[in-house]
Amino acid sequence: MNTEWADADRLADLREDLVVTGDRARIPVEAPYTGEPLGEIPAGTETDVEAAVAQVRETQDAWAERPVGERVAVLDRYADRVLDAQDDLLDLAQVETGKARRDAFEEVLDVATTASHYADVAPGLVASERRRGALPGLTKTTVHRQPVGVVGAISPWNYPVTLAVSDALPALAAGNGVVLKPAQQTTHVALLARRLLVEAGLPPALFAVVPGAGERVGAALVDHTDYVCFTGSTATGREVAARAGRNLVDCSMELGGKNPLLVLDDADPERAASGAVRACFANAGQLCISTERLYVDDAVYDEFRDAFVGATRSLRLGTGFDYGPEVGSLQNADQLAKTTRHVEDAVEHGASVLTGGRERQDLGPYVYEPTVLEGVTPEMVAYAEETFGPVVSLYRVDGDDEAVARANDSPYGLNASVWTADRARGERVARRVDCGTVNVNEGYAAAWASTDAPMGGMGDSGLGRRHGDEGLLKYTESQTVAVQRGVRVDPGPLPTELWTRLMTAGTRVLSRLPGWLR
Ligand code: NAD
Repeated sequence: MNTEWADADRLADLREDLVVTGDRARIPVEAPYTGEPLGEIPAGTETDVEAAVAQVRETQDAWAERPVGERVAVLDRYADRVLDAQDDLLDLAQVETGKARRDAFEEVLDVATTASHYADVAPGLVASERRRGALPGLTKTTVHRQPVGVVGAISPWNYPVTLAVSDALPALAAGNGVVLKPAQQTTHVALLARRLLVEAGLPPALFAVVPGAGERVGAALVDHTDYVCFTGSTATGREVAARAGRNLVDCSMELGGKNPLLVLDDADPERAASGAVRACFANAGQLCISTERLYVDDAVYDEFRDAFVGATRSLRLGTGFDYGPEVGSLQNADQLAKTTRHVEDAVEHGASVLTGGRERQDLGPYVYEPTVLEGVTPEMVAYAEETFGPVVSLYRVDGDDEAVARANDSPYGLNASVWTADRARGERVARRVDCGTVNVNEGYAAAWASTDAPMGGMGDSGLGRRHGDEGLLKYTESQTVAVQRGVRVDPGPLPTELWTRLMTAGTRVLSRLPGWLR
């Protein structure tokens, strides 16, 4: 492969940063572009997780005591470091995932933007705040934000740079330490992203990476950390959330989706088709917020379909470390098998393939053509199940109400997209779609890249949010300190009945006062 990151010594050097406390079984890692072995990672154990958590805990107190300005300075430097070192990150992300370079670049941008955002807002978010006290003028009430301690992060392979570090950044800014279990397939690039953070000034012991299988290392992480930030499939998310619940540990769950895109009757079909192509086939469809269902109004259906199928057919498919290919490989054999199964099942039950529907072994062992299906019905697997591959189903609808009803006919609720010539109408329709993020005249990037706003799923797509204030405050415990002076809040020496009358009158007066006077 045409990159220095396929070199065994460079990968071995990165593995030096793993927390592994003894000889471990090995898990093979392959390069999806070729299917060749890339190396092996150690299969971590619960002992390794315990060691990692202990190491992070020991450093975390001192980190939390450092002024927030010093903590966020690391994030500011990291944003620059990631942009400067982007070629390394892009190469290694491509080596381990098989994705197109433009998709890898979205990760670099995301990490840099997230780092700058939280560097900017974290000081305000963690600052202690005065709140309205129980008795005006007599109770001084302050809310403090304390870090939860050690955050456990479990991440998937599809966006291995973003999902390994972007959720860790607000946790670190809030004064926490982090133990990460990356997906087995993409451990090296997660290590590289973490190493850049250390180069930006993060104490190395504060961010530990434990490699290995989810059932073992991931589960142990849930048992030993103070907060769990999980990104992955809904099936695994249910198990992780249940385990966190048993431990009474808080968690956020960023899970799967079956995301709808609505083309309204006034949309420009060419423009909508061009946006939909990116919405469906970014990262070869292995993107939690990419589109798998297209609901197109009858008025523009035929024009949209022609434009969309034409644009999909002309996508440049391939493997390479330049910006030539627009769609890369799937990450592994299971992904290819699932994608193939969804398309074959749809065809067997009567759906038509308008374009795509074929493996491209000539380009790489897991390359699959961007595929557009028509005539998909509820008995087909692709109708409701997440494919997580380059496959989209096209449906004709009659009016906004039907488009919204069909978009909402899913247990998932992650991301949606609405295309229209009338932005105000687009906003109104967006508000009716049951998804955590809805983009108008964009596929997914507008909402995702609005780092100041929360992002996450409704229904089976998850719990909690990343980004926005929530994306940092979730890693804190709020503590209320109330200082009372003068009269006490209980009757004290007063006869109880007199006290109840005074309190009744006082409560009536208080409830009528404007908020700022209370
Ligand atoms: P996955 O659930 O199989 O694995 C995700 C992570 O969980 C991996 O690190 C895995 O090793 C670990 N894991 C597996 N079993 C575990 C267990 N029992 N306990 C703890 N950890 C365990 O998901 P995947 O196939 O790697 O990723 C694809 C899925 O992730 C898709 O469904 C996609 O939609 C979803 N995803 C969601 C988002 C989001 O932000 N909502 C982002 C990316 C991917």
